[in-house]
Amino acid sequence: MTPPNMNLDPDLLSILVCPKCRSEFRVDDEANELICTNATCALAYPVRDEIPVLLIDEARETKEAADNQ
Ligand SMILES: [Zn+2]
Repeated sequence: MTPPNMNLDPDLLSILVCPKCRSEFRVDDEANELICTNATCALAYPVRDEIPVLLIDEARETKEAADNQ
């Protein structure tokens, strides 16, 4: 089994930030997503055709809904 590899440009990745909270991303190769590193935000943005879709509307929440604000 060959794991999927997004081959995102590291330079590109280094300038990308979460549009919601301005935090950096980590890459989730398995899910093909960029995950916001801010624990209180933790949105996961999809990557389509190696292009990150940095739209809050397209993102999904990864944090557990433990704290009901
Ligand atoms: Zn964020």
